[in-house]
Amino acid sequence: MKAAIFHGPHQDLTIEDVDIDQPLGREVLVRTLASGVCHSDLHFVDGFYPMLAPAILGHEAAGIVEAVGPDVTSVRPGDHVIACLSVFCGACDYCLTGKTHLCPNRPVRAKDQTPKLSWNGKPVTQFASISGYAEKMLIHENGVVAVRKDMPLAQAALIGCGVTTGVGAALNTAKVEPGSTVAVFGCGGVGLAAIQGARLAGARQIIAVDVFENKLATARQLGATHSVDASSGDPVQQIREMTGGGVDYSFEAIGLKKAAEQAFDCIKAGGTATVIGMIPVGQKIELDGSVFLREKKIQGSSMGSNRFKVDMPRYIDFYMQGRLNLDDMVTRRIKLEDVNDAFRAMKAGEVARSVIMFE
Ligand SMILES: [Zn+2]
Ligand SMILES: [Zn+2]
Repeated sequence: MKAAIFHGPHQDLTIEDVDIDQPLGREVLVRTLASGVCHSDLHFVDGFYPMLAPAILGHEAAGIVEAVGPDVTSVRPGDHVIACLSVFCGACDYCLTGKTHLCPNRPVRAKDQTPKLSWNGKPVTQFASISGYAEKMLIHENGVVAVRKDMPLAQAALIGCGVTTGVGAALNTAKVEPGSTVAVFGCGGVGLAAIQGARLAGARQIIAVDVFENKLATARQLGATHSVDASSGDPVQQIREMTGGGVDYSFEAIGLKKAAEQAFDCIKAGGTATVIGMIPVGQKIELDGSVFLREKKIQGSSMGSNRFKVDMPRYIDFYMQGRLNLDDMVTRRIKLEDVNDAFRAMKAGEVARSVIMFE
């Protein structure tokens, strides 16, 4: 099968002919139809996070089940599925208390088994238990969810990471309340999804913060009631003025030290800042310690605190009802060969999402 191979940081991915094994045990072989280019992949290409090369990136994908291992019970060939990197074991304390997204026992093949992916006879790292920049994916059944077949697959792919991460941060992690005020730093795919999550939760004021006017325009289209151009002065000051002292909830959706600090600074007493973005390993963020007396809170959010087998079909219903706008988040439909240009376009702020289409 064709796949985009990652050779190391600061190098272009190349399209190669890669071997994928047949499904064993509880594994599912999926024919990829759509694969979103998520900002998290760029963190590895940029060398901010380590990755054993060669590898196949891509973790925001949807497709059709082609074959299943002998022990699979939850999906069958022909099912439309979304992949999720929050693969879970189903038996640990986290799983048994409804926090499958924090499961530390993600099922993998044993070292003495054949590798799932190989290239020129050598094993290839499967990224996030998915590797979606490829014509096929071999995923544990606890890493896929079957979805209704009238759901378009490009939009379904976005639910696999960006939408679940952003909407889930608002609904599951922060539990935004109706009538509250919200600020979202960063209007890429995840930030736009957080804005929509705040809208779905009934927030009365949703302030989008970015440095690109085209992204702020998309944010307003998707539910932001106000926008702040962070390149034209201190966004914290502007948010305080707009809200009379600060927001109830803020979200950092970029992965920047400064934005995380601003997200904390712009909440009011009793407010909660939620950091969604991937801040580089080892990077410290600095907060004014005295304001903890005002019950200001800061927390992390992992993949929207998802229970994805439950959440994703719900998000699809929201989409089908016209309450979750995913059409305007798919900025470009591209081919696998265009993946390097998609990274460039993302850095340049040209897109909310590029989605690789395989047919
Ligand atoms: Zn992602
Ligand atoms: Zn578990």
